[in-house]
Amino acid sequence: MKVGSNVLTTDKGKLDITRMSALVDQIAWLRQSGYDVVLVSSGAVACGRKELEVDHLLDSVEQRQLFSAMGQVKLINLYYDLFREYNIHIGQVLTTKENFQSERSYQNQRACMEVMLENDVLPIVNENDTVSIEELMFTDNDELSGLIAKMIGAQMLVLLTGVDGLYNGDPSEPGSEVIRWVGPNDDVSRYILPTKSNVGRGGMTSKFNTALSVAKAGIRVIIANGNRDGILPALIENPSETIHTEFMPS
Ligand code: GLU
Repeated sequence: MKVGSNVLTTDKGKLDITRMSALVDQIAWLRQSGYDVVLVSSGAVACGRKELEVDHLLDSVEQRQLFSAMGQVKLINLYYDLFREYNIHIGQVLTTKENFQSERSYQNQRACMEVMLENDVLPIVNENDTVSIEELMFTDNDELSGLIAKMIGAQMLVLLTGVDGLYNGDPSEPGSEVIRWVGPNDDVSRYILPTKSNVGRGGMTSKFNTALSVAKAGIRVIIANGNRDGILPALIENPSETIHTEFMPS
């Protein structure tokens, strides 16, 4: 599963501890219910930004390098403390797009996930924004989570974001509704608005592209609202009553 920066951080650029703690409770529940989980977590740049007052202008690359380096420490430390309450071991995986490109690095990346899962360690993955070269970066963590889902042959990819799913119109307009199912032959691209939250890099366009390509690889994809209480157990136990968009695998 992937969680976006807009779920993990508050408007003030701080980690939303209550939200993260609730997500950790739900991931612990998933593991107790027999699911292996890989967590792709954004939020490093968003929460690193407020760590330091910088008195001169930084360009976008400098900002990303500096804030991701500082924010990732905060993010992983908080996950460590929260998961420790459940005696769940976590491992940090910081990766780059190059690790998915040659066969050798791809196999190596897969072996890394496998050894963690075999040993019951929860991988928490993010792009290594600190050393990534801009032109060679993932579009965003949606793309990264899709590549990982395919690499490990996941049963399901859940993209948790700040809205309930893919809408058939502007979500702020009355009358717009969440599209519940997208089948392999449904063309819903006309509904994708190029809007983004102001914290992460992704948006509905990239979620949609990731969802299509992952569903094509035979994996169910769900887009749901990570700010809704108990969303993960609800998606598993009571999917028909839980608002979300599901892309059916082909
Ligand atoms: N890797 C970025 C971060 O941790 C997030 C990228 C994205 O928004 O998808 O801040």
